[in-house]
Amino acid sequence: MVIPIFLPHLGCRDRCTYCHQGYITDVSGEDIKARIDAAFIHRAAPCDVGLFGGNIFGIEPAVLEKMFSFFEPYRDWVRAFRLSTKPVPLRDETIYLLKENKTDIIELGIPTFNDAILAGLNRAHTGQDLFDAYHRLQEEGFSVALQFMVGLPGENENDIENIIRNMVRLKPVYIRIYPLVVLKDTPLYTLYRTGQFRPTAFDDVLDCACRIYANAVKNGISVANVGLTDNELVRDMVAGGHYHPAYGFLVQSRIFIRAVEIVLKHLGYPKDITIILHNADIPLLIGHKKQNIMKFSRMGVTVKWVPSGNNRGHFEVRSQKGSAAGSVQDIYDQ
Ligand code: SF4
Repeated sequence: MVIPIFLPHLGCRDRCTYCHQGYITDVSGEDIKARIDAAFIHRAAPCDVGLFGGNIFGIEPAVLEKMFSFFEPYRDWVRAFRLSTKPVPLRDETIYLLKENKTDIIELGIPTFNDAILAGLNRAHTGQDLFDAYHRLQEEGFSVALQFMVGLPGENENDIENIIRNMVRLKPVYIRIYPLVVLKDTPLYTLYRTGQFRPTAFDDVLDCACRIYANAVKNGISVANVGLTDNELVRDMVAGGHYHPAYGFLVQSRIFIRAVEIVLKHLGYPKDITIILHNADIPLLIGHKKQNIMKFSRMGVTVKWVPSGNNRGHFEVRSQKGSAAGSVQDIYDQ
């Protein structure tokens, strides 16, 4: 169980062009303390605490130390801290404070490894900064997770391949994938409104997310989540881009149908198939609003399914042309 404490824009000296965390420009010590107290008011069991929504590395060490002091009354309840941050600035004092306060997982945001795109997003760091921070944090004993983005302005095929290559090389403990969403009242929104930024087709960006996801799974890297958390505030602020309340499901169901298509090709495209699969994979086979079933129908394929003891992601296709096993791990080799 992770108790999230949101620190909107705390430590964000530079604002990323796509980001709007609710603008709290002068979070006072009392505000943070009240938020922490509220989070623990009904706590009855030990938990992890997640510090999200800002740039923890950008918080002045004295302020960070004070913030950790607000957890003193709850020390017995806090198993460990985890946090999300940009990879810069990486200060010795910050590392010391994080270790002192039982921080175990640090999620580093690296939307892309393309320095020109990072500059355009006003991230104020480079891809090399990510590598430097990653290795230093590992040496210091932290577990490191990574957050990627897809659908960025100027992004191309090479950028996605670079993300996958670096992810496989670095082997983070888990990843998160965020499609770019244009939120109102952001610099990106201005570019979008004036026609200077035109998002790539939804389907193409979904494919990019699928490729990263599938390569993560194939390499034993967990995917903690895909897409922005769905809440009313986010929905109200979305002006364009790649928001979908079930984005993670869209990714997983597209990967599933691609894996089935590989087996269909192998079997010579039989017209009537029965898929033997794990019960929990049936919604992925059917797809969001039956999209996958409709796709099979357009291909002239009638699909039945039977739940079985197969492992998740693994299935068997039976047909008059023969049978063959398949897996979501069979797709997207880079
Ligand atoms: S994306 Fe992260 S680092 Fe950038 S402005 Fe938002 S909270 Fe700050």
